[in-house]
Amino acid sequence: MLAEDLVASAPLPAALRAADAGKSLRLIGESAAGRPFDHPVEPGTSIRILTGGVLPSGADCVVMMEDVQLSSEVVTVPAGLKAGQNFHAPGADLLAGERVLPAGVQLGAAELGLAAALGLAELSVGRRPRVALLSTGDELVEVGKSPGRGQITDSNRWALLAALREAGAEVRLLGIGPDEPEALRRLVVEALAEADVLVTSGGVSVGTHDLIKPLLESLGDVHVGRVKLKPGKPFTFATLRDRKLAFGLPGFPVSSLVTFEVFVRPALRKMQGHSQLQRPTLPVRLGYEARATADRTEYQRVTLAREGGELVASSTGSQSSSRLMSLAGAHALVRIPPGNRGMGKGSLVEAMILALP
Ligand code: AMP
Ligand code: MG
Repeated sequence: MLAEDLVASAPLPAALRAADAGKSLRLIGESAAGRPFDHPVEPGTSIRILTGGVLPSGADCVVMMEDVQLSSEVVTVPAGLKAGQNFHAPGADLLAGERVLPAGVQLGAAELGLAAALGLAELSVGRRPRVALLSTGDELVEVGKSPGRGQITDSNRWALLAALREAGAEVRLLGIGPDEPEALRRLVVEALAEADVLVTSGGVSVGTHDLIKPLLESLGDVHVGRVKLKPGKPFTFATLRDRKLAFGLPGFPVSSLVTFEVFVRPALRKMQGHSQLQRPTLPVRLGYEARATADRTEYQRVTLAREGGELVASSTGSQSSSRLMSLAGAHALVRIPPGNRGMGKGSLVEAMILALP
């Protein structure tokens, strides 16, 4: 992400050269890539120029080899030549002082190439938000270890790590925190010395082992402790000292990723100066009958297919918040407004696009 305007310091490509004529001209030299011809081209003379060669002073057009007659040191060029033909004029791509890229642009392949072409060895860019990521729960075990009775593999860490990186964050993994208030507090306080943002998963429902909300309340201000969203009802958001943010995501794998998409990713993008915070949305045609939840907006996971100029959504199957298969390979989250009626097959709904088919 670029932090300030990039301004062209020199014309691109570099100054060029041409031959004048309609007659027979004396060939007086050559300009090749990296080996310019250093004398002016006087009337009645011309030089050979190769691709990438600099146009010498006096010359104002280039004629193709196939359009000339060449005999030893004399070249006969056709009539009707125009000044400026067949070469890239200085500033044809960019003029000095022209704004090349506005601040806030994402630096991709073309943008980085452009900066290098302008000779800029260093760019001033926005810092990535530093995020500390913590999974909580006594039942969690490290991936690769076989879970014992009542245990479950910590999959959220890896899902959220990928989601955080895609959103531009620099991630510090805190591993698994126990369901024990003091131990959690120590982990979190220590991590917040470095991090701009804390992201946790698990421990936000209302129950004896749900310790994240009281912890965040003791460290700052909890603004959201519950949202009318399915999946993701117990999503928690707090602001902490030094403008730090904390997101307590639900433990259920799909709930944590959906609330990440809806709330965390836009916040991280805002911190990086993006103006487009949400994923793009498009209207799509429901290819199935969607039931609604009375009091909560539902984000259902779908695949999309193009049918006659429209995008048609198919459900990824059971929408259980523990079923990651409902999100794996999904192209979009379709937004089903709360209510009792649901949305019939063929309705147009808003879809948050994750990937187009
Ligand atoms: P909690 O919000 O802590 O009550 O967790 C809700 C559900 O999500 C429980 O079934 C947890 O076992 C599960 N869960 C919590 N954390 C993780 C995690 N890191 N990876 C996978 N599942 C998790
Ligand atoms: Mg838990």
